[in-house]
Amino acid sequence: MSIRKYIFSLSYRRRKSNIPRLLKFLENSQYWEAKKLQEYQLKHIKKLLLHAYQNVPYYTELFDKNKIAVDNFKSFEDFKQIPFLTKKDIKERFTDLIARNHLNNECIVNYTGGSTGIPTKFYQDKSFIEWSAGVRIRGWLQVPGYNFYSSRAIIWGAERDIRSDYSLRERLYDFVVRGAVRLNCFNLSPQRIKAFLKWYNLLTPSLIIGYVSGIERFCDFVKRNNAKIHVPGAVVLCAEGATEAQRNYIESVLDAPTYNMYGGREVGLIAMECEHHRGLHTVAENNFVELSPINLSGYKNAGDLIVTNLNNYIFPFIRYKIGDIGVASPSSDCPCGRGLPLVDKIIGRSADNFVFKDGLIIAGEMFIHLMKEYNVDKYQFIQESIGLIKLKIVPNKHFRKDDIVKIKDRFSKHLPKYVELSIELIDNIPKTKTGKLRFVISRLQ
Ligand SMILES: [Zn+2]
Repeated sequence: MSIRKYIFSLSYRRRKSNIPRLLKFLENSQYWEAKKLQEYQLKHIKKLLLHAYQNVPYYTELFDKNKIAVDNFKSFEDFKQIPFLTKKDIKERFTDLIARNHLNNECIVNYTGGSTGIPTKFYQDKSFIEWSAGVRIRGWLQVPGYNFYSSRAIIWGAERDIRSDYSLRERLYDFVVRGAVRLNCFNLSPQRIKAFLKWYNLLTPSLIIGYVSGIERFCDFVKRNNAKIHVPGAVVLCAEGATEAQRNYIESVLDAPTYNMYGGREVGLIAMECEHHRGLHTVAENNFVELSPINLSGYKNAGDLIVTNLNNYIFPFIRYKIGDIGVASPSSDCPCGRGLPLVDKIIGRSADNFVFKDGLIIAGEMFIHLMKEYNVDKYQFIQESIGLIKLKIVPNKHFRKDDIVKIKDRFSKHLPKYVELSIELIDNIPKTKTGKLRFVISRLQ
């Protein structure tokens, strides 16, 4: 621990990083009262708007067109007059969204994962990167027993990470300098999981952090091989929503509690559960989060998540419609004492919810919930049109022909009468480029 402490501070000092200073601030600010947090947000929103109006052509035009007087900006009500920023806007107006006063050497290119279509390109700067790292580390610190110098196992995957397994040199660097061990979610061959497990047991990490599906496959391996495994303090689930069944499975195999962490590459961490699991605390100092109400079947207070990042001046995301849906929390406080606002839950990409006539939306999560009791290995719902949903099923050995009738009966009770559910039995369902299995896909976007 003390060696790691020394290496960490040396590494941050060498990079002239603000992260340790930022973390000190964040550890304190999370316990501010709601009023103080709101004042902080308002002050930083105003600063961002002034910058955007003066330096970012897209916002100059947008604010002028909508008669938004940035100088007179006083309240969150004023802020709500600003139209949403969409992925389509980013694609079409990319150049106009770059701040004119940016320094070229500060531009860091990033892309969304593209799980809802073609990846979207955007820029980030050093300040954004440091804030993102700061709030992410604070998120991990919300897990009891985890501290700044604790070690962690990372089960992650992204298209750009496809390559051969980690070399000995990389393993040692991760182990000693970062206090980390990594498993790439792609190409999860038994050999690679085995190699990871060896380093994992040597490191004895406090946390496992990663994609839900990647962690699940790691659990499958542990279970199948009855492998001896160090019990982590907790498992942090990122990048895709975990179903209740997935959480239970992971918790039972790894014998550790799970925490949902939610964010996006565009704006960094947005929200995370604390040890009381009363929903997710939003990261209010970095992202201002709003819910724009929608009519979502089964939920009273659901809304499109609208996120404003307060610390990316090079390519500002102001009132950005990220494409996910949130449910408002019934309570405003949590026994942990954090003042950070709560969101009850995040329910998948909007594209993964089904839209019908009269604005009716049925959450994709409901389809997943209803499928739990059938004898299927994998499945995928695809809404082809307002009136047609296709269900692809990879049956398991217990699946019988009359299960098709049962599934149809069950779903007809939940779908509008004019919707046809067609079922097709197949051998396999391919994963997306980022290694995710999409249970519910809408082709209506
Ligand atoms: Zn809490």
